Amino acid sequence: MRRGLFIVMLWLPMAAWGQAVGEYAAGCQYNASALPDRGPGYYVIRHQQARYYGQPEMINYLQELGKKVVSAGLPPMLVADIAKRQGGPFAYGHRSHQTGLDADIWLRSPPPVPDSERLATISAVDMVDHRGYYLTAAFTDNQRQLIALAAQDERVSRVFVHPLIKQAMCRTYGNADWLGRIRPWFGHSSHFHVRLHCPEGHRDCVPQAPVPKGSGCGSELAGWLRDRAGEITVTATAPWRPRLPRACIGRVE
Ligand SMILES: [Zn+2]
Repeated sequence: MRRGLFIVMLWLPMAAWGQAVGEYAAGCQYNASALPDRGPGYYVIRHQQARYYGQPEMINYLQELGKKVVSAGLPPMLVADIAKRQGGPFAYGHRSHQTGLDADIWLRSPPPVPDSERLATISAVDMVDHRGYYLTAAFTDNQRQLIALAAQDERVSRVFVHPLIKQAMCRTYGNADWLGRIRPWFGHSSHFHVRLHCPEGHRDCVPQAPVPKGSGCGSELAGWLRDRAGEITVTATAPWRPRLPRACIGRVE
């Protein structure tokens, strides 16, 4: 009895502890958890792609965010890519999302009938009119509140949004400190991207430099709004093949 208990105690932490290994855009993950395909305040979309694996901290963060969404009376959020079960680079799409600490959340409202087929084939809604360079009517207070709830969590390192969305957040929330985590980045006008800090005890997780102090609503944002060169979308980029840490080699294809 005593011996059995001892073995269980040894085994449990190993099974339960995730590890994010390497950099956000050059790494992999160990002991990932799967986000259930729906829960309070959220649905997973494109379930068939099996990119719903993340570090336990990320899964917990998303489930808690879903509960905050419910409490705020907002429509359920649509969770898209997190990472593959072992992490590592995707065959197409993003550069990051490799360590189970990145997640994309779509900005469009959920479909009226959220059955699995509808959620599997759902299309994105762009919140930006890229010709006129303004936010469309699709971007409402629901989206603002959702991004605010996502960014206010201390576990968050960065939230990437289109510069016009950052501007909208600054206009609504003034100079709140947590706005500094919301980073302008092109390509984030139909979804936003949440990146968590390296969790405690993940010794092989490589953190990103801290965000600059302050809300980032001043000159930095002005620069992004002025320089729209990055708005030009590049098509058919070659797959991202970074140099992976040794602990990931042979683990991810
Ligand atoms: Zn992303």
